[in-house]
Amino acid sequence: MNYRMNKNTNNPGGNNEVHNEYCKHYYQLVNYLDLGYHSNCHSAVLDAKLKGYPNADGCKVCSPECHTE
Ligand SMILES: [Zn+2]
Repeated sequence: MNYRMNKNTNNPGGNNEVHNEYCKHYYQLVNYLDLGYHSNCHSAVLDAKLKGYPNADGCKVCSPECHTE
């Protein structure tokens, strides 16, 4: 599925949350990095980190298995 990372760190942990296209937040992001298609959130989060966002983290709603804090 497709993933987007929030460029804003407006959550308590100060992380860049990564959302998939089935998340309600996906379409609400205004300042985001389009990560494209990934088969799972681990791949999407890693992609975001490699693109310069070491604080990328899975959304606790849509990607709880990738949510660390
Ligand atoms: Zn989400």
